[in-house]
Amino acid sequence: MHAVPRALAGAAEKHGVTFKYNTTVTKVEKSGSRASAVITSDGQRIECDVVVLNPDLPVAWRDLLGKTPLSVKRLNYSPSCVTILAGSSKSYDHLAHHNIHFGHSWDGVFDELITKKQLMSDPSLLVTLPSKDDPSLAPSGKHSYYILFPTPNLDADIDWKKMKNVYKDQMYATMQERGYKDFADSVEVEHVTTPLDWQEMGMERGAPFASAHTFLQTGPFRPSNMAKGYENVVFTGSGTQPGVGVPMVLISGRLAAERIVGRVK
Ligand SMILES: Cc1cc2nc3c(=O)[nH]c(=O)nc-3n(C[C@H](O)[C@H](O)[C@H](O)COP(=O)(O)OP(=O)(O)OC[C@H]3O[C@@H](n4cnc5c(N)ncnc54)[C@H](O)[C@@H]3O)c2cc1C
Repeated sequence: MHAVPRALAGAAEKHGVTFKYNTTVTKVEKSGSRASAVITSDGQRIECDVVVLNPDLPVAWRDLLGKTPLSVKRLNYSPSCVTILAGSSKSYDHLAHHNIHFGHSWDGVFDELITKKQLMSDPSLLVTLPSKDDPSLAPSGKHSYYILFPTPNLDADIDWKKMKNVYKDQMYATMQERGYKDFADSVEVEHVTTPLDWQEMGMERGAPFASAHTFLQTGPFRPSNMAKGYENVVFTGSGTQPGVGVPMVLISGRLAAERIVGRVK
């Protein structure tokens, strides 16, 4: 997947774009109805004709633009997840590249995650094994695992500072039950990400899948890619139209470009 942003950046650079990596924007400066400059955390003021904002849309409103519109304040958010990236000495013959393990309770999982805002009592989970098809992703004879358990977002009353390690152990215990014998003991390196970490990375309510894809928050009903009150601020990314996921986000980038060159009003 990394090849996609690398290729896009390469194409942009070929046309004269300069990237400033590892630079945080802290404010979009406004003059009348137009954004006039972006301010960065290292004190730069970069004047602009157009601003394209890629952070999660509600966070961009709150932190960079100022007064958040009511329609954005009212958004509902998708569930979150805990992921473990693990380096392990174990491999299992039955594994495919992507492995989805369903619990018996399918509707129950959604009820727990979305309505009751609880952790899954009968988990459905994803285990991906990238090193199965690309052994260069792990040291010789070892494997890289990506383990994802859906969880409620931060609307739920869960203290992730306390729960992080507890839940990690529960995830390994579930894996043991689902055929990953002695997996926990085989882990040599691990990196755990909780809803709190997603929030710190800039996702509202710790929801890495952004505002929920309910009917009224999908496609044309999702927050517009033009920022209300600005003539020249355009959103792109999972928080705006058409929605979440790499293909949707790439379309949102194209829509942003079309807004700028004026092909779409
Ligand atoms: C665990 C997980 C699994 C997923 N699985 C899939 C999948 O299988 N298939 C799929 O299609 N999608 C999947 N997705 C969803 C997909 O990854 C996202 O919808 C998509 O990457 C979001 O793209 P984006 O451009 O909106 O945000 P991002 O890719 O997060 O880009 C936003 C960028 O803005 C930067 N930024 C934020 N604030 C500032 C600031 N103030 N100043 C400067 N820079 C800033 C961030 O650093 C970041 O680089 C998954 C997501 C997660 C978290």
